[in-house]
Amino acid sequence: MTVLASGSKGNSTVIASARTRVLVDAGLSCRELLKRMAQAEEDPAALDAILITHEHQDHIAGLAVLARRLRIPVFITEPTHRAWVRMLTPRTTMSYAQWLDHVQKEKEARVVAAALAAEPTHGDETAMNGARDSVLIETVCDELEEEDVAAAVAKPDPTYLPAVEYFHSGTSFSIGDLSITPFTIPHDAADPCGFVFESKTEAVRMAIATDLGYMPPNVKSALRGVDVLLLESNHDLEMLKDGPYPWAVKQRVLSRVGHLSNHATAEFLARDYDGGATYIVLGHLSEANNAPELALLSAEQAIGGRRTLLGNRILLAQQGTPLASICV
Ligand SMILES: [Zn+2]
Ligand SMILES: [Zn+2]
Repeated sequence: MTVLASGSKGNSTVIASARTRVLVDAGLSCRELLKRMAQAEEDPAALDAILITHEHQDHIAGLAVLARRLRIPVFITEPTHRAWVRMLTPRTTMSYAQWLDHVQKEKEARVVAAALAAEPTHGDETAMNGARDSVLIETVCDELEEEDVAAAVAKPDPTYLPAVEYFHSGTSFSIGDLSITPFTIPHDAADPCGFVFESKTEAVRMAIATDLGYMPPNVKSALRGVDVLLLESNHDLEMLKDGPYPWAVKQRVLSRVGHLSNHATAEFLARDYDGGATYIVLGHLSEANNAPELALLSAEQAIGGRRTLLGNRILLAQQGTPLASICV
């Protein structure tokens, strides 16, 4: 697991087995995501797919540009896809019939795009291989933006994706040798989810659960038996109450479809967590309403109360810089 970014300004994490590599969420610009991957020594060309948890900007902002650039499929639920398309499409309402029509047109556009892609595009491979060089990254994204402009003129669809695969929360699917189980989370989005990843060949399980208002039983049970757990520890209750957010926003964060507080995360770790993870990564920390030391202390105290869990290591995911890759 390589957390490229975590927090309300953007989220993205690479999950990789020996054979398969996926990106969970693309909540930064294409340029920034490529820069972070270069910093973390992750090769964007090696990614097999992008998975989306929900349609909030901090999880999806760079999706279209990155997916088109890398020409890889996007795994998303249909309600999340539809919500995202509505966000990016000027008309405010779309009936289900119009939505089906949109999906059909997109499929047709993909056939055309596939035919065009069959003709070799010069410099493409070189550009991706050289993505570690920051100057080249700029070139890659500039070229891409030009490409996008050209595409927009020909086909005014900002929501175009090279391939879309729908999944349903609660139903496992596979990408390469990764078995992926999405689970529903309580959050104010169309169809938000977390993921459990399992590499069968390596017998390793990792899970991502951020952006949830509370810990329902289905999430607690999904998080059993994982080796690496990226878990939200969004805010300190006192800091949020005294903090700068307007009242309505405070209510949203605190609600059952908002975000997990340090306290709620600690409560889960103390009461329900099975203690099996080698690493617990605390993520989606609020910059305005939390302090890394508070989140860490709170989780450490929860774990510290359980003597059997002293082997667990707690790390803090960062907003501004990638976290060193966690390998188990
Ligand atoms: Zn978020
Ligand atoms: Zn969210």
